[in-house]
Amino acid sequence: MNLMEHQGKTLFRDAGIPVPRSHHARTPEEVGSFIDATPGAWVVKAQVLMGGRGKAGKIKLAGDASQGRAVAEEILATPMPPNRQNPHGEPIRSVLVEERLAIAHEAYCAITVDRAARKPVLIVSRFGGMDIEEVAERHPESLAKFYVDTAIGYSPFIGRELAYRAGLDAGYHRAFPAIAGALYDLFFRYGAKLVEINPLALTEDGRVVASDAKVELDDDALHRHPELSEWRGALPLDEDEILATGAGVGIRNFRRFPGNVGTMANGAGLAMATMDAVSNAGGHIANFLDVGGGANAQRVRNCYELVVNNTGATVFFVNIFGGITRGDEVARGIVDAMRQTTSRKIPLVIRLTGTNEAEGRRILAEAGMTPVETMDEGARKAVELAS
Ligand code: GDP
Ligand code: MN
Repeated sequence: MNLMEHQGKTLFRDAGIPVPRSHHARTPEEVGSFIDATPGAWVVKAQVLMGGRGKAGKIKLAGDASQGRAVAEEILATPMPPNRQNPHGEPIRSVLVEERLAIAHEAYCAITVDRAARKPVLIVSRFGGMDIEEVAERHPESLAKFYVDTAIGYSPFIGRELAYRAGLDAGYHRAFPAIAGALYDLFFRYGAKLVEINPLALTEDGRVVASDAKVELDDDALHRHPELSEWRGALPLDEDEILATGAGVGIRNFRRFPGNVGTMANGAGLAMATMDAVSNAGGHIANFLDVGGGANAQRVRNCYELVVNNTGATVFFVNIFGGITRGDEVARGIVDAMRQTTSRKIPLVIRLTGTNEAEGRRILAEAGMTPVETMDEGARKAVELAS
């Protein structure tokens, strides 16, 4: 789950990372009345999951309430335009009204998992406010990294060393070790994949403040923090994610593509291999679908209907690896699902392997479906039937 800036900053505040005073608002009127009640110099920032808001004109200054209303109106009027981070752009549903900082320096600080090193890595640069990819290209020498030994954890000397190696302005040195420590604690407490502060601002009056917040949480660790579940519901889903949720599979288990070979497999890896097999056979896939564990009749039916009713599929290629789920059970699930469904019928090509596969294939053949022995054979059959 990726968090919006205002949500990330809520976690920052609780963790002891300094953030600007702010108010999260959904309408221009709300922005206006907030500024009326608390006059000052404010920034109004679009709340979206993608970055690059500054460049897109989705961060604007407001000196008084009527300006606040006007810029909020402008920001909310059009979606965030596409960029490298998100080629579709993103609708804007709310804004953050934030204390305007007089920024003297912008630095970069993040923590993520380095899979090769199998350790969390703290990354610091004296160049903040631009994409880290750009920093890596243009100023690779400015990137200071520290791989944290999780058995030992974080100590302030790590932060002091990083600040020095990254060449941070001296104004950062006093506050930085505690901020990096709080970032490390937050990373572990929430099971994050990435926590990024870009920019970490040094203000004219010498404060070090997180001016932006990007937090990506590992969905498998969310159960430790049920209080965040309402944020999940608040985040915008795209059309494919809404369809996936409706069919009872995970939000990332379904994606549509422009082709005509519908696919379904158990496991994301097998689902992607299935798509490759179809491409190798000269076909064009209509979707990615990971049915998840346990392919009973209800679930197979939901998935079949999901694909038939929402994609251009003219054939449905099912690729199941029977492990704990036995092949004969899956076969019965498929047969029952096809009897129950009231949706349009398209031919099914089924590759069933693993536990009780022969029995499974017999059940399918008796029901008039096309069982095949290998994935490539299935892909060829499906491409043939599709055209
Ligand atoms: P992003 O473009 O989506 O990453 O949004 P950021 O929150 O990082 O803001 C982009 C840029 O806007 C920052 O790097 C700053 O240069 C500028 N900015 C944002 N808030 C303030 C502020 O309070 N004061 C000043 N002076 N600049 C700001
Ligand atoms: Mn930023």
